[in-house]
Amino acid sequence: MAILVVGAGFAGSVIAERAASAGKQVVVIDRRAHIAGNAYDHPDDHGVLVHRYGPHIFHTNAPHVAEYLSRFTDWRDYEHRVLASVDGSLYPVPINRTTINRLYGKNLSEPEVEQYLASVREPRDPIRTSEDVVLSSVGRDLCDKFFRNYTRKQWGMDLSELASLVAARIPTRSNDDDRYFTDTFQKMPREGFTRMFQNMLDQPNVRVELGTDFKDMDRSKFEHIFYSGPIDEYFDHRFGKLPYRSLSFQHEHLPGQQRFQPVGTVNYPNDFTFTRITEFKHLTGQTHAGTSIVREYPQAEGDPYYPVPSEQNQQLYKQYQALADAETSATFVGRLAQYRYLNMDQVVAQALVAAERKGFGTVREPVMAGAAG
Ligand code: FAD
Ligand code: UDP
Repeated sequence: MAILVVGAGFAGSVIAERAASAGKQVVVIDRRAHIAGNAYDHPDDHGVLVHRYGPHIFHTNAPHVAEYLSRFTDWRDYEHRVLASVDGSLYPVPINRTTINRLYGKNLSEPEVEQYLASVREPRDPIRTSEDVVLSSVGRDLCDKFFRNYTRKQWGMDLSELASLVAARIPTRSNDDDRYFTDTFQKMPREGFTRMFQNMLDQPNVRVELGTDFKDMDRSKFEHIFYSGPIDEYFDHRFGKLPYRSLSFQHEHLPGQQRFQPVGTVNYPNDFTFTRITEFKHLTGQTHAGTSIVREYPQAEGDPYYPVPSEQNQQLYKQYQALADAETSATFVGRLAQYRYLNMDQVVAQALVAAERKGFGTVREPVMAGAAG
């Protein structure tokens, strides 16, 4: 009997590749018309490579994840940079020395920035919410200028209602480092994410069925199911709907315009109903006479993109998790099925563990030549 993998995103594709490499017959389904899940990229009508579901930048500190994905793609170096538009001017995010000096018309050294932050921060103990994180790291003025309104737009909730892990994604720096991520491995798949997924799934014992929903499948035909869709949907919303935040992506091509903005992403914390604009050519390094951008408009309804990290939602998720733990015929993998705000590399790492547990082989750190044992 074959293995059924529900979802052709990172979670599903890693499982499928591992299972097939271990000699299993694998059927991968996705209700969308394409593979690659939310990391799907494709040339738009003008030939610019765009990410349909918003900007995806690959970064990791896990060498075995980088090594594993390198089996399916070459890479190009890319360090993401983000500016926030506040009162009509652009400032680096994460907040760093430049942000503070430019915003307040100062010329502080690194130790002076640390002193400044120490003087404005409002220490909180314990740190429970995202508001606690931001106030205890940068104080109220920077919180109100950079975080409060962006967060309300993005999540439809106040910082104080969101778990600390949301705002904790964004560090505060007293130096001039203006990279969004500081991971050791920051690269983009040279020919795009979709091509990388094609290489993962292009195996004789993997069959991919697109436009196919799990609800229409005969589960009894499969030896085991790996499910990467929303967990509450799997259990017919038995305990009620888990909130997933959605987005509407407004893509636009600007013909004859080489560059739209100075960096990959510009955030608009306080203006407009969209949160940010991303210009893809920065991410991909593509040269083209025109350029393509996307604006992200958060919304409550629509495709599920983000689990919403709050105490209340975590309680509801735990009820579903108990059902999932008892389900011996299925394994729940990925962002939607585990209801966790995971980056791509974390999803890969967890899928590799799930595959190993099922006996599909181990992906570990390659032993470096010459390294002592
Ligand atoms: P998904 O990619 O969501 O794949 C799940 C798949 O399952 C989907 O294709 C769906 O159609 C399918 N499916 C669901 N239910 C069913 C069903 N019933 N039947 C059939 N198919 C089904 N991560 C980073 O590391 N860096 C970034 O820069 C980054 N940027 C992001 C930007 C945005 C706007 C978003 C939303 C996410 C971003 N992420 C980023 C996170 C990244 O998208 C996820 O970590 C990753 O895509 C999760 O992979 P997955 O396989 O768990 O889920
Ligand atoms: N955030 C913010 N202002 C910013 C950037 C981020 O308030 O300029 C907050 C916001 O709540 C956001 C969270 O930090 O949802 C995490 O940001 P990240 O860029 O990691 O979000 P993602 O790329 O996952 O949407």
